[in-house]
Amino acid sequence: MKTALITGILGQDGPYLAKLLLEKDYKVYGLIRRYSNPNFSNLTDLQIADKIEYIQGDMTDEASLINIIKTIRPDEVYNLAAQSFVASSWDQARLTTEVNSLGVLYLLNAIKFFSPTTKFYQASTSEMFGNSSIDGLQNEETPFHPRSPYAIAKLYAYWMTNNFKESYGMFCCNGILFNHESPIRGKEFVTRKITDGIAKIKLELAKEIRLGNLDSKRDWGFAGDYVRAMYLMMQQEKPDNYIISTGITHSIRDFCEIAFNHVGISDWEKYVVIDPQFKRPAELFTLQGKSDKAKNILGWEPEVKFEELVKTMVDADLERLSKK
Ligand code: NAP
Repeated sequence: MKTALITGILGQDGPYLAKLLLEKDYKVYGLIRRYSNPNFSNLTDLQIADKIEYIQGDMTDEASLINIIKTIRPDEVYNLAAQSFVASSWDQARLTTEVNSLGVLYLLNAIKFFSPTTKFYQASTSEMFGNSSIDGLQNEETPFHPRSPYAIAKLYAYWMTNNFKESYGMFCCNGILFNHESPIRGKEFVTRKITDGIAKIKLELAKEIRLGNLDSKRDWGFAGDYVRAMYLMMQQEKPDNYIISTGITHSIRDFCEIAFNHVGISDWEKYVVIDPQFKRPAELFTLQGKSDKAKNILGWEPEVKFEELVKTMVDADLERLSKK
């Protein structure tokens, strides 16, 4: 039986990845921080909370990571832990760097010293490109130009992951994932903020949603599809970096339109308040990925389409709130 350690197990991607690995008969360890009240709801939603072996540690505590790697020596480590909310990274740049940059270095070092054959996956991000593109698209060759402390910290981790592969011959890969969403996306992220807000408006629990720039464009996919790509990268003979995206871009305005229309609200703009506090200090206007390499080498393609994703998220929020 293969073993995998997932950091960030309580977030969005952790539960989807754990579910996939459990289906493939892995023993799954999940790293969780010390909390007086940990929140297992995403794992409970996917009905796998009791199938994971939890292990306590923190990305900012090197000794805890050494201890974990030394004890379980997993076949695969998926590093999904991060301070992942871009907006907060301007206010908490140091914390973001400690978790998203140094934490990755600690984990790589722990693997190098105590379990060098362990394969390592780093959750890299399209945010590393900023507004850079080649003919309007981003692929593995596009130069990086990060526009937030989050993206800068992730770029350090990206290069450190490459460097451990090149310096020590370790199996290290970067998945450069474009935005991916699901019904268990954190509520501070714009997609979920919209679907949760719409469900509240529909149920007369709220009157408005406050948003930033409606014209920002993103390449949105479904988290369940994207964790499949993570797994596939780790099954290759050679480690490599891959763009994971749908190749189709939509604005936040498009997202709102589909989501509101789905609950029968067509005059949706009257429920949306543009609030400058939700605009980024340095905007990232358009992301659109080109994942041909993943298609050709991994045989990976996204299955869930944008409209279906939006509607599923709205339905899930309506159902959740109706039960309360
Ligand atoms: P998420 O929902 O924010 O989950 C992040 C997880 O990291 C949380 O479970 C959090 O734990 C954990 N974490 C934060 N600080 C930690 C620390 N100091 N020690 C240990 N764990 C810590 O993020 P996600 O959407 O699942 O994304 C997974 C990864 O992919 C992240 O690295 C993210 O930056 C990256 N990524 C995401 C996207 C996307 O669109 N979702 C796109 C590209 C890349 P708590 O539950 O304890 O807070």
